Amino acid sequence: MNTHTFTIRSLYDGFRKKEFSAKEITEFFFRRIEEKDKEIGAYLSLTKNHAFDVAKRADELFQKNTNIPLLAGIPLALKDNMLFEGTKTTAGSKILEHYISSYDATVIRKLKDQCAVLLGKTNLDEFAMGSSTENSAFHVTRNPHDLSRVPGGSSGGSAAAVAGGLAVASLGSDTGGSIRQPASLCGVVGLKPTYGMVSRYGLIALASSLDQIGPFAKTVEDVAMVYDAIKGHDEHDATSIPDEQPETHHYDSDYAKQLVVGIPKEYFIDGIEKEVQKGVNEAIEKFKRLGVRFKEISLPHTKFALSCYYIILPAEVSANLARFDGIRYGNISNLKSQISNLKELYEKSKGMGFGPETKRRVLLGTFVLSAGYYDAYYGKAQKVRQLINNDFTKVFDDTEDGVDVILAPTSPTRAFKIGERASDPLSMYLSDIFTIPANFAGIPALSVPVKQYVVGSGELPVGFQLIGKKMHEKDILALGMYYEKN
Ligand code: GLN
Repeated sequence: MNTHTFTIRSLYDGFRKKEFSAKEITEFFFRRIEEKDKEIGAYLSLTKNHAFDVAKRADELFQKNTNIPLLAGIPLALKDNMLFEGTKTTAGSKILEHYISSYDATVIRKLKDQCAVLLGKTNLDEFAMGSSTENSAFHVTRNPHDLSRVPGGSSGGSAAAVAGGLAVASLGSDTGGSIRQPASLCGVVGLKPTYGMVSRYGLIALASSLDQIGPFAKTVEDVAMVYDAIKGHDEHDATSIPDEQPETHHYDSDYAKQLVVGIPKEYFIDGIEKEVQKGVNEAIEKFKRLGVRFKEISLPHTKFALSCYYIILPAEVSANLARFDGIRYGNISNLKSQISNLKELYEKSKGMGFGPETKRRVLLGTFVLSAGYYDAYYGKAQKVRQLINNDFTKVFDDTEDGVDVILAPTSPTRAFKIGERASDPLSMYLSDIFTIPANFAGIPALSVPVKQYVVGSGELPVGFQLIGKKMHEKDILALGMYYEKN
């Protein structure tokens, strides 16, 4: 058995045919984690008791052989910013090092309802701020394709777990690219759903108007299966969309073939790494051979997305992270002797509990929201965000010249070396130049590897992105499946 070759589909069939049990598969994955995760560092904590309890229940379901959910017995990993009742959730921050979740995030409850085996919590940049997972307060995560390189971020642990064969699929969160960019750098598939399609209840908020939870897996089909399991309306999340979407994991090549794909000229700019350009062109050529039609389109406000993001995101961060004040969250027991008033308590607990990137963004956010600067920065950025959204509406809604899906590179470069960008925030921020616009517009986007990258082959993965209309996950998943199955 090889953990790298398992997919949800193959495990499901194997369980049904009694080729192996969920308990055996769970043991097998924990053994693999013990051997391999020392070098990869994908996990922050393991939830073995839960995993074996559920595996037992899954095996009972397969014994009875009735009404078996698709994810029963499937070993999954979770980014450590989602609450899992009774277990540690750190968000990659020292300030939450000892925090035990008091309830289940909706996505976790849904996975538990399916009898999915949750193996553990994966590493991330602190509070999901970063593009390399180097901002974790605990340790770095290495890219399974080249251990001297980053897995991307901020959901680097979840991407590396799937690429390294340490989980069959996983969940991450994407605020400006944190699912798609690490998926691209690790050679796996990652989906950022439409804003509001997956409940954010129980996700530690970064920027509430942009955050979305979504899956990683080795195939588009597996990603669609996990997406089907976690999506849907949730009354605990006021931004959750009420409408039900159809199931997305059924392969339909006729549907995929008739979709028209737009190539935005603003996404194919100088400065993209040569290999990325080449990989994305290969993908386009393959789609053309498969009969897919392409059109050149323009999204003229793309160039403002990054600067706009680094105003809106810090503004929301400074509000969301205010709750980590050392009183309700944080460990002040060892600070007590140094604190004489409330202000000092805040200063000391935040000063010790937050890392440099988090501090940088909280300060920036407080500044852009402060009286006198609000209109010049935050107010203006909101207007520009609207222009970026209008670009998408225009190309998607145009009845004559419109397109169904947009294809673009996911990241301007392949995986970079650990440490290479750590001291240069700007070059790190540039990693998200192609992913941020979809978060602004709240539309779904899928990163697909140009081809199957085998760990150990020495090749660094390249991914491309399929961006869809609001609530049209079906389109990008259908095209992604058409690509991977042909
Ligand atoms: N890398 C981006 C940032 O640092 C995106 C983060 C995310 O999507 N969570 O903000």
